[in-house]
Amino acid sequence: MMKAEYDAIVVGSGVGGCCAAALLAHQGKRVLLAEKRSYLGGRFSTVNRDGYLCATGGLAVPVGKNLEEVCQQVGVPSGVKPSTKVATWLDGKLYDHKSGVTRRIIREVAESPDEAQRVLDALNSAMQGSPPGNDISFRDWLNRTTRNHRIHGMFQSTISSLLTVNSHELPAGEYFKVIKVISPLTFGFIEGGSLALWERIGELVKKAGGDVLVGAATHEILVAGNRATGVRVRYQQASHEVRAPIVISNLGPTATAQMLGSFILDDDYRAQLAKITPTAIMWLHFASDELLMDYSAIGVGCSRRVNMIDVPSLEAEGVAPPGKHLYTVGAAPVDSIHPQDIKSEFDAVMSDLRDIFPGFDERCTVLTRTCYRGKWPGFRTVPGSRPSHLTPVENLYNVGDGVCPPGYEGSMGAAKSAQLVLDEILSRESLSAV
Ligand SMILES: Cc1cc2nc3c(=O)[nH]c(=O)nc-3n(C[C@H](O)[C@H](O)[C@H](O)COP(=O)(O)OP(=O)(O)OC[C@H]3O[C@@H](n4cnc5c(N)ncnc54)[C@H](O)[C@@H]3O)c2cc1C
Repeated sequence: MMKAEYDAIVVGSGVGGCCAAALLAHQGKRVLLAEKRSYLGGRFSTVNRDGYLCATGGLAVPVGKNLEEVCQQVGVPSGVKPSTKVATWLDGKLYDHKSGVTRRIIREVAESPDEAQRVLDALNSAMQGSPPGNDISFRDWLNRTTRNHRIHGMFQSTISSLLTVNSHELPAGEYFKVIKVISPLTFGFIEGGSLALWERIGELVKKAGGDVLVGAATHEILVAGNRATGVRVRYQQASHEVRAPIVISNLGPTATAQMLGSFILDDDYRAQLAKITPTAIMWLHFASDELLMDYSAIGVGCSRRVNMIDVPSLEAEGVAPPGKHLYTVGAAPVDSIHPQDIKSEFDAVMSDLRDIFPGFDERCTVLTRTCYRGKWPGFRTVPGSRPSHLTPVENLYNVGDGVCPPGYEGSMGAAKSAQLVLDEILSRESLSAV
């Protein structure tokens, strides 16, 4: 049940919200974690479809990085099982991911050794000291060195699978920030489905004297003067006023600002909000009785739409019925800022799947198809246009992929934002204790 007062309120239980709630509970704070939907985890959870635990968004966790750091810090097992075999699929051929795979593929798809060398030199120079700025898209930056559509197709696949935008929509400088952080990483899947992790975190919050509510929609953040003092939450058909000296929102900066009632935001913050541009991603789950590929993840280069296929059932137990296999497919619409004609976009995804897996229609069953966009996006905003986790309201913080620092994306970025918020809270508390 809900109390009238807590030490902290966390609105929304996505990766950022759950991590923030866990970190505060670990500090001994009584936290209210209030989630509007009927399950925890937001765009990184799992729902059961005919015995298959389908992802509500993300599922691949960067091994050892911020989400796992938070789990370790608070003493909750992450349950992450690292992917053991990953490859890139290109025109029917699979290239195992081992050191030098990008170079190998570039050499193979280039029209001449000279072209391959030019591209590799440009990449090296950008990685090692002279990266481009954000005033040019990645595609335009690469066009300066080559117009080879197969080389472009390879980078397009990496960019759209990691960042849910197309290469012409990504500021070039952001690509190099992200790739520096992400390229050494391996990814893994959560055993028993991602929801199992958020439920473990929910238990931790409750053990520390807090409460975890689903079906609890916050509709106002209360501000007195310049300080957040609590929220109004709709729960079980009534509106409840709940007070706390710390309020953390996982709704994304735009929705958070819309909950501030008559509080007036300054022009600088408004300008930051105006730059927020949610991205779109097409997402599909399918199942098969026989295993279609012996890889837990493949990046797909030079396709119509598909950029990534994961097979979580190959690594994580309990996500598919015994003996069956579950696959997730990611794809970027042609325009991932303003996606059009979603049906045609999914038709293109299906054509790719039929090319990649001959006999797809006979061997596989499609379980879900979703186009994430708008208020339920791929990423809350295109990398390079994010405000910070701090807000103009004292003691009100944002967490989630809408506010993570450059180079941190997806679940890793959302967990990082929660770590930054905890640091901020602890440093303010230690200052006020002096
Ligand atoms: C299809 C897809 C695939 C992806 N794949 C990956 C991947 O493999 N690896 C990876 O790292 N990242 C991936 N991502 C990105 C990753 O899922 C997100 O970056 C991450 O989950 C965002 O978490 P968040 O903290 O921003 O919270 P969100 O997931 O945005 O959660 C916000 C929560 O707030 C709740 N809420 C909203 N309004 C209210 C309200 N008024 N009151 C209370 N609660 C409210 C929502 O219901 C939700 O639960 C993917 C994203 C998508 C969409």
